[in-house]
Amino acid sequence: MFLNKCIDKTLATLNRRCLSKTPINFESLSCKLLVVGGGTGGCSVAAKFSRHLKKNNLIVLDPSKNHYYQPLFTLIGAGAEKLENARRDMKDVLPQECTWIEDEAIEYEPKKNTVRTSKGHVIEYDYLLVAVGLDLRFDKIPGLLAALSKPGGVCSNYSPKYVNRTYQALQKLQSGNAIFTFPNSPVKCPGAPQKICYLTDHYLRKRGKRNNVSISYNTSLAVIFGVKKYADALWKICKERNIQVNLRTNLIKVNPDRPEATFENLDKPEEKFTTEFSMLHVTPPMATPETLSKNKDITNETGFVEVDKNTMQHVRFPNIFTIGDCSSSPNSKTAAAAAAQSEVVYKNMLSVMKNKPIHEMYDGYASCPLVTGYNKCILAEFDYDLNPLETFPFSQDKELYSMYVLKKNVIPSIYWHLMMNGHWNGPATFRKLMHLGFTDKKSNLHV
Ligand SMILES: Cc1cc2nc3c(=O)[nH]c(=O)nc-3n(C[C@H](O)[C@H](O)[C@H](O)COP(=O)(O)OP(=O)(O)OC[C@H]3O[C@@H](n4cnc5c(N)ncnc54)[C@H](O)[C@@H]3O)c2cc1C
Repeated sequence: MFLNKCIDKTLATLNRRCLSKTPINFESLSCKLLVVGGGTGGCSVAAKFSRHLKKNNLIVLDPSKNHYYQPLFTLIGAGAEKLENARRDMKDVLPQECTWIEDEAIEYEPKKNTVRTSKGHVIEYDYLLVAVGLDLRFDKIPGLLAALSKPGGVCSNYSPKYVNRTYQALQKLQSGNAIFTFPNSPVKCPGAPQKICYLTDHYLRKRGKRNNVSISYNTSLAVIFGVKKYADALWKICKERNIQVNLRTNLIKVNPDRPEATFENLDKPEEKFTTEFSMLHVTPPMATPETLSKNKDITNETGFVEVDKNTMQHVRFPNIFTIGDCSSSPNSKTAAAAAAQSEVVYKNMLSVMKNKPIHEMYDGYASCPLVTGYNKCILAEFDYDLNPLETFPFSQDKELYSMYVLKKNVIPSIYWHLMMNGHWNGPATFRKLMHLGFTDKKSNLHV
């Protein structure tokens, strides 16, 4: 707590800004840059452009009054953080120098350079950044929404609406099965579905209840984690802590009246089984918002904005870029990835605005602080080729207290004070400094 306050104070002093309400300007519905989505990626790039563009030339379109720092949800679900620390008013997070329109994009007309909103506005732009993230599709699992609407052991860290249920379920957990799921769809933060599993194990051990509870992690994936170096470490942890990992096992139904969940074996779809649970932590299926995916001009067949994976520029419309979870770039969908993309997007968009060639390249950097207990964390960092791309000059496949402090105390402050003000582009500069400018990426030997 004290550490948090110190970091917050220092960064806030470095980065002082007015917190007065940003007025909504409905008069000017044309602008130079339109940012659709004021979440992690959209806000960070809008902040960078707010230094160049006048208020009426920079519009951020987002219907949400709240901005969430979602990486904190894992710790909130475990009872180690509070939801209020992950939330800010959107008006206080977006740059003062932009016009925020509290409305939703429902139609993109890239040939006309316009976006239509749900309140009937048509916004004309010169340049467009699409940053609408991923939608949580709890509705895709029959019975799940009904189960989440009543008291019981069904919970999910993924939504601010349900995240507090996780800690309630944890506190009530005395015996039986605790099941954690990973859906058969792209997800944001692919490490989060198993982080809460390790936290549950630790919680129960601290209270002497672990032997009464059987823990399983049922994942649709064929691996425990995409990067072999960290997967090896995680398999070891699961073995040591008696966590049963069931690969290619997908949640298909939740009984809304009884604590029972049904799974399918993705390799043998005829093989289905139903199991009882005391706690069921669900990572819901996810997809880009339908308001985006139905716009075939700018999306690919899976509904993601179709961009060059290195430049983040749209493959057919050079004045359109994307950032974050809704991008077709095949990186792990994380806020850390959006941070690394933000400078690439910003510099490449500036070049396009000046009719210059674009040079900045995103290497697929993503990071996932794999919290494995209330005081330990493996900091996974990697690139497009799933090669580790580690910041620190030691091998990061170890559970460390220092990485837990980084996740809980340092990164949230960096997010609010630096990234949301357009000053954080990921740890690449630190990585170079830490490795004295030398990193052998392929073998991850730091020379
Ligand atoms: C439980 C959990 C744990 C996580 N842990 C980590 C972690 O440890 N490390 C990490 O780096 N990342 C983590 N993440 C992932 C990270 O939060 C996301 O990858 C990141 O927020 C993506 O940013 P974004 O801008 O693409 O989307 P978001 O931040 O989700 O923002 C999307 C915005 O678009 C708006 N929007 C949606 N539709 C429309 C529309 N039609 N018109 C206008 N606006 C619209 C939304 O209101 C929202 O404000 C975690 C996420 C969760 C849920």
